Amino acid sequence: MTSSTASTLHIIGSGFAALTAAKNLRKQQPQARIQLISPRDELVYYPSLIWLPSDLRKPSDLTVNLNNFFSRNQIEWVEASVTGVSAQGRSIQTSAGELHNDGLIIASGGRFIKKLPGIEHAFTPCEGIDPVMALSDRLTQLDGGTIAIGFGGNPKEPSAMRGGPMFEFLFGIDTLLRRQGRRDKFKIVFFNPAEEPGKRLGEKVPQKILKMMTDRGIEAKLGQKVMGFGSKQVQLANESFTADLILFMPGMTGPAWLANSDLPLSPGGMIQADEFTQVVDCPGTFVAGDSGSFPGPEWQPKQAHAADIQAKTAAINLSQYLNQKPAQTKIKHELICIVDTLDKGILIKRTDKGTLMLPPLRIMHYAKRVFEKLYLRQYR
Ligand SMILES: Cc1cc2nc3c(=O)[nH]c(=O)nc-3n(C[C@H](O)[C@H](O)[C@H](O)COP(=O)(O)OP(=O)(O)OC[C@H]3O[C@@H](n4cnc5c(N)ncnc54)[C@H](O)[C@@H]3O)c2cc1C
Repeated sequence: MTSSTASTLHIIGSGFAALTAAKNLRKQQPQARIQLISPRDELVYYPSLIWLPSDLRKPSDLTVNLNNFFSRNQIEWVEASVTGVSAQGRSIQTSAGELHNDGLIIASGGRFIKKLPGIEHAFTPCEGIDPVMALSDRLTQLDGGTIAIGFGGNPKEPSAMRGGPMFEFLFGIDTLLRRQGRRDKFKIVFFNPAEEPGKRLGEKVPQKILKMMTDRGIEAKLGQKVMGFGSKQVQLANESFTADLILFMPGMTGPAWLANSDLPLSPGGMIQADEFTQVVDCPGTFVAGDSGSFPGPEWQPKQAHAADIQAKTAAINLSQYLNQKPAQTKIKHELICIVDTLDKGILIKRTDKGTLMLPPLRIMHYAKRVFEKLYLRQYR
């Protein structure tokens, strides 16, 4: 531990958690040298990827250059990819050389487990703008056929899945095809290994989501393990079916660079944190967002909202550490999302007190658009 005045602090990543950490760390430590290490000086706003196929958003709308944000907050951007972390976080190996720090917040996101045979035949839309643009092109080219949409999980890290966004792609594509007057030419099939997909969002959510599927003529194949894919085939444990377009999100694990690190990992391969977001047995090293595994309620999903809460917690507790005081701020567990259908949105909020789920409302679709605008404004 060193005096905070002369501290060099590192943040890994430039996504949701990293930028919230940077902003809050600067507030807590006005004098510190803060270096943020990431391959690109931009934020990609993932929640609006769902609006690319309908042209409601263009790729350039979802990418924010961070130079203004960095200079406003006196953050030094180090253009590099992290390849390893050692000495309990005090040393970082990067593509631009080795760096040393007095404190670290890791926020380099998760990685999708692409081990299923034939996974290359499925579009993995949550990986970013390029796969979503590719699947949009494919959808435009199709005159009709079957569209299969599903997601899997990481059995050792149950929170590491992208259920909400895949429901958004499902309902969004249904709405888009209706708008285009060609829904009758397509069969849409949702597949999931769980009997009750979406339960993490709330006890009654699966039944409401399945009813929405029935109302929209979407077939659901539930409770069967996903075995793999062919060029036009989805292979489930008890059956296989033909599909002209496959969207599948596998479960997540930790970033690849962890293989070259001495950080403690959870059974699912994420960085193991305590309730203060400190990496276990690594004083002065914290983790926030999709990279981490945090103690807490089993319903807490990995989402940007949670990443922001964890990042703020990490910044406060790192500052305490630098001031030689014990961590006091614990992670607040909360799920808030709007599951968008392209014309409506379903607000879901879950805390320890229970779940609030509103029916699909037009105003919630607009609320999600307004939230995006306000969220991105802080980084422009
Ligand atoms: C389609 C979609 C819709 C979503 N909708 C919502 C929603 O409505 N609400 C919600 O709360 N959440 C939503 N999410 C989830 C949310 O986007 C993620 O939980 C969030 O992005 C996690 O933030 P993060 O900072 O941990 O990781 P990321 O946002 O993935 O950021 C990781 C950062 O680390 C950088 N990085 C990666 N590797 C390295 C390396 N080796 N060295 C240095 N830097 C590295 C990356 O470039 C990136 O800047 C959605 C996700 C998707 C895909």
